Amino acid sequence: MEELRRLQVALRACRRCQERGYLERALPVVSPVLHEGLLGGIIVIGQAPGWRSQQRGIPFGGPGGRLLQSWLERAGFPPGYLHQRVYLSSLTRCYPGPAPRGQGDRRPSPHELALCRPYLEAELSLLRPRVVLLVGVMAIEAFWGKVRLEEVIGTARLEHGRRWLPLPHPSGVSRWLNTAHHREQLQRALELLAEWRRELGL
Ligand code: SF4
Repeated sequence: MEELRRLQVALRACRRCQERGYLERALPVVSPVLHEGLLGGIIVIGQAPGWRSQQRGIPFGGPGGRLLQSWLERAGFPPGYLHQRVYLSSLTRCYPGPAPRGQGDRRPSPHELALCRPYLEAELSLLRPRVVLLVGVMAIEAFWGKVRLEEVIGTARLEHGRRWLPLPHPSGVSRWLNTAHHREQLQRALELLAEWRRELGL
């Protein structure tokens, strides 16, 4: 836990992307709670914090977080579980700004992804999570390789005792859940998560 605390201090102070000109202002958003119960638990890996998360200083601090919490409740977890019992991470930790065209946030560039990745790898190695929730296509591809959501939502991977579950992004901008078939795929994913919750006593 002490190492994790030190890592979070380093993360909060990180300005790498600002110093290299990739971000106007780096303001890392870090998982809010730190306790022993996180070790061997669940980690959520998203793309990058949104504007609301940055304003509140809490990952998944906007409507996407509320929807993700509601998915956890469908898998049998209690209210408040996401922000109290889950370690919240992402590919990059600073709000990347709005997308230059269209809706939503800008996707972090390969340079930003590379600069931020060591923090994520350190978290994985310190927390040793038994369940990894990959939220959104960018986070999925970072660990799964190039795929379409249709191919992976509702499936899972088990590697060295760690369970990986891809989920669609719970952002209001995503249209992926507008079709009944995709909603069925999400339901299958949440049923898998419910099984793991029972098996692992999460
Ligand atoms: S995105 Fe990551 S590497 Fe870049 S400044 Fe923020 S914390 Fe540092």
